[in-house]
Amino acid sequence: MFRYRPQPCTNCGKVLDAGSRPGDEEYTPEHSKQQGHGAAMICLACGHVMILEDGTLRDLTDKEIIELAGDRDLVMIQNAILAAKRAADNDGD
Ligand SMILES: [Zn+2]
Repeated sequence: MFRYRPQPCTNCGKVLDAGSRPGDEEYTPEHSKQQGHGAAMICLACGHVMILEDGTLRDLTDKEIIELAGDRDLVMIQNAILAAKRAADNDGD
């Protein structure tokens, strides 16, 4: 896991300050940059995907959305977050 400057999710406003990637201990924003793109971050509160670039979270460009659509890990994590959120939302009903 790595830390970055605390800042709000661009979608839900939840303050985020850390990232990690399952199964990849070496993963850092710098590693991701070497591969030619910013580090994709998923908000754990809402499942929104952002890019961490130079310590700042921003929304994806159209090109990045297309590139990341094929990222199996990202899709799996996002699905898990959204399923957990749906379960939590239905809890009170
Ligand atoms: Zn969010």
